[in-house]
Amino acid sequence: MKFDQLNLIAPLLNALQQKGYTEPTPIQEQSIPHLLERKDLFGCAQTGTGKTAAFALPILQLMHEDGDAARNPYVHALILAPTRELALQINESFDAYGKLLGLRNAVIFGGVSQHPQEAALRRGVDILIATPGRLLDLMQQGLVKLDRVRYFVLDEADRMLDMGFIHDIKKILSKLPAKKQTFFFSATVPEEIRSMAGALLHNPIRVNVTPVSAPAETVQQSVYFVAKEQKRFLLKRVIEDQGIDHVLVFTRTKRGADRVARDLTKSGIKAESIHGDKSQNARQRALQGFKDRKVQVLVATDIAARGIDVVQLSHVINFEIPEVPETYVHRIGRTGRAGASGIAITFCSPDETDYLKDVQKLIKRTLKTEVTPNLPPAPPRVVPEGGSSQRPQRKSFTRNPPKSNSSSSGQRATATSRKRY
Ligand code: AMP
Repeated sequence: MKFDQLNLIAPLLNALQQKGYTEPTPIQEQSIPHLLERKDLFGCAQTGTGKTAAFALPILQLMHEDGDAARNPYVHALILAPTRELALQINESFDAYGKLLGLRNAVIFGGVSQHPQEAALRRGVDILIATPGRLLDLMQQGLVKLDRVRYFVLDEADRMLDMGFIHDIKKILSKLPAKKQTFFFSATVPEEIRSMAGALLHNPIRVNVTPVSAPAETVQQSVYFVAKEQKRFLLKRVIEDQGIDHVLVFTRTKRGADRVARDLTKSGIKAESIHGDKSQNARQRALQGFKDRKVQVLVATDIAARGIDVVQLSHVINFEIPEVPETYVHRIGRTGRAGASGIAITFCSPDETDYLKDVQKLIKRTLKTEVTPNLPPAPPRVVPEGGSSQRPQRKSFTRNPPKSNSSSSGQRATATSRKRY
């Protein structure tokens, strides 16, 4: 299947050619023809499947056919995304695909001054990409009107719920016209998402591309068993021994991300961390440095990393195993994209073996065990009763799953404990 069989107009085909994309990904192939017929979409797809183009291309084409480039001052398409990083990436996609159509897109998100965003809105925006909080803020100030929206995308709906955006989203939804085409994406489909989609969508087409329990077959997955205190030595060793020159490393906490990046930098490996406590500028700088390959190792927490889109990321390392097994699948989905091969390496310390079991149960396979090399001895630990010397503020039950409880449900993090990261 080629893009020119999907009924796309020439300017979009040209833009795709310039990007070097020749064949649509499965979600693009399965959804674009229906979306061009103005159907709603329920897409069960994670980042890395090409979902952005699956909604951006039809929206651009339909708006072009509608004559929206006639420079009237209304937002006709609204795309909601949970994080700034994802919003920026979606905006870049609209830049790339839409540059020959004369439609104006803009992105707004919190944590930065609102003035440039305000100025862009005043100049007129056809396609608005936004995170919920800042959008609501600007709506309340009377700077954005959404009563002419005809195309609405809710991206990563499950993550929106996780991050506590549900009330903001409901408020935004109440300002949208009833008649519109809705594109709904979620990587996982818990009950809450199912009912939300049911309320939002009319007779949608359903596309389910890579269920979250199935990481890309092209990703090689393996695990090293290692003491918690030796993980930092192992990280350096694996990077050097395997000649890894570009890798995304995941930690569970913001402090952990900082510490890992600092340790690597001290040992001469160029590393940066990104997480929610860093300023927008610092995050963008780190991300850009990583994209430009000036930064060899990017250390991220799950929320900060959501949607990081670096084409051809070869390696992902789980410095710590996530408490929620689906997160493992999201993490390793950063590599092995669009058919490319990838390598996902996981470090498992004794207190994480139950998390590893949960992951293996979800993905229905056992990770290949690597031989852990000889590492410098861990510094002696002074562990207070029930706590960790490194993270005394964390409650031990979230770090150390109960050994006697082998059922996975008892070990999953609650929404509340996840929000801390
Ligand atoms: P997404 O899931 O939308 O974040 O896209 C994942 C990555 O795949 C991004 O780097 C896209 O630019 C890229 N991509 C999207 N569509 C295609 C395609 N048809 N062929 C190759 N790469 C693509």
